Amino acid sequence: MSGTLAPVKPGRLIINGESVDAASGATFETRNPATDELITTVAEAGIEDVDRAVRAAHAALEGPWAKMKPIDRARALWKLGDLVLQNADELARLETLDNGKPIFESRLVDIDTVARCFHYFSGWATKLTGDTNSVNPGWFTYTLREPVGVVGAIIPWNFPMIMVAWKAAPALACGNTIVMKPAELTPLTAIRIGELALEAGIPAGVFNVLPGKGRIAGEALVKHPLVSKISFTGSTEVGQHLMRTAADTLKKLTLELGGKSPNIVFADADLDAAVKGATTGIFYGKGEVCGAGSRVLVEKGVYDDFLAKLVERAKKLVPADPLDPKTRLGSLVSRQQMERVLGYVETGVKEGARLVAGGQAQPVNGKGAFVQATVLADVDNKMKVAQEEIFGPVLSVIPFDGVDDAIAKANDVFYGLAAGVWTRDLKKAHTVTRRLAAGTVWVNMYGFYDPGMPFGGVKGSGFGKDLGEACLHEYTQVKSVWLNLE
Ligand code: NAP
Ligand code: MG
Repeated sequence: MSGTLAPVKPGRLIINGESVDAASGATFETRNPATDELITTVAEAGIEDVDRAVRAAHAALEGPWAKMKPIDRARALWKLGDLVLQNADELARLETLDNGKPIFESRLVDIDTVARCFHYFSGWATKLTGDTNSVNPGWFTYTLREPVGVVGAIIPWNFPMIMVAWKAAPALACGNTIVMKPAELTPLTAIRIGELALEAGIPAGVFNVLPGKGRIAGEALVKHPLVSKISFTGSTEVGQHLMRTAADTLKKLTLELGGKSPNIVFADADLDAAVKGATTGIFYGKGEVCGAGSRVLVEKGVYDDFLAKLVERAKKLVPADPLDPKTRLGSLVSRQQMERVLGYVETGVKEGARLVAGGQAQPVNGKGAFVQATVLADVDNKMKVAQEEIFGPVLSVIPFDGVDDAIAKANDVFYGLAAGVWTRDLKKAHTVTRRLAAGTVWVNMYGFYDPGMPFGGVKGSGFGKDLGEACLHEYTQVKSVWLNLE
């Protein structure tokens, strides 16, 4: 199937409304992890390009963008959402080629998520308000809600176009300008959405895209004095580094980092629903999902039953060609990621976990970074496979004994991104939810997202929120105005 498709044009930087090569002329290759084939070459932003893009974004804060009425800003963002839908086939194909995820996910799930994000946040552009405050009858005191300025967005490879939308939609709705640095492994959809933003009527310089290396372009963005805020999604390690670097210029930060989220299955749960939720919770997106339910904690009374059903489901999920619409398990993003994931499986087995499904690489047509849907049973919560983020299709199943033990195990990790609770007991659902150290809790469901619901972690998973009304505070600042009427 892949051989019959049109070639992908080389990717370029988008700076000040124009597609340009890097100042140095440097390019890098982007490859399809499912076939190891070259997709195309992409211009590689260097420090000079970052400076040009940031200056363009800074100048655009004073240009037509600032003079646009909020309703017109809203219309442009809505149109961008529409253009994403109109170019759905192309965007989905680029995403699948670059990332290895099934076309089922990129075409039917990711496209709609991206479009909904732009549509949802377009509505906020007209609803940002300040307050009038009566502190003294002789004064007029009020607050203005203003954009923060130039936003630097640094995003990962697992949901490339969704991440573009999660950062750009609210930042632009609030009147900021943005410089977007996609992951080196998956630059293509960010570039395409940057082009569509121009088509939607978003003025030049407002939405810049800089494919390139984190260590060079990302680093330069974080250091640049004209960038007011960095919105980062990625690994905890890089997030910690960015926080240190951003201290020099006192930038605002949103850090959406890793996770090791528990799915807690109580004995009174609807077991079939829980098995289904736990399976998609880890194997959707090949497990390369920040909020993946990578630990399943199962109450002892139903442990064996649950495990048997889970293994049966996992074994039915077979890696296959990501461009085939029937495929539900694609290729990991790179060989390096595959090696890392397989290394964890080996570590788990050495630590005493029982491998009950998968565990192997499984090339498709002799190629690619495919890994089987893998289940490790009888995992102790202290093991590496229970503590560290694997970021692949590997599930650690951990037994527990009662509510307190479940909570203790669920919270005994560095991370705190998300959690799932499976029970028919309403009281238990709510009390357990309150005691979980997590930014999101799903009850009798798992892995749902909506632009109206904030997403972001606690503890080692970072701080600040993407999405929802909550994220508007990340992209606006409040000015207090005092006027003497006496
Ligand atoms: P990563 O290595 O931290 O990379 C994320 C982004 O940061 C990439 O664009 C990367 O560029 C850039 N970067 C790397 N080093 C940098 C530096 N020194 N200065 C500035 N930028 C730098 O993460 P990843 O491997 O792409 O993604 C996987 C991680 O993301 C996982 O830990 C996952 O949990 C997390 N994640 C979190 C969420 C959430 O919402 N909490 C969502 C999705 C993913 P290069 O590509 O060039 O290295
Ligand atoms: Mg690639």
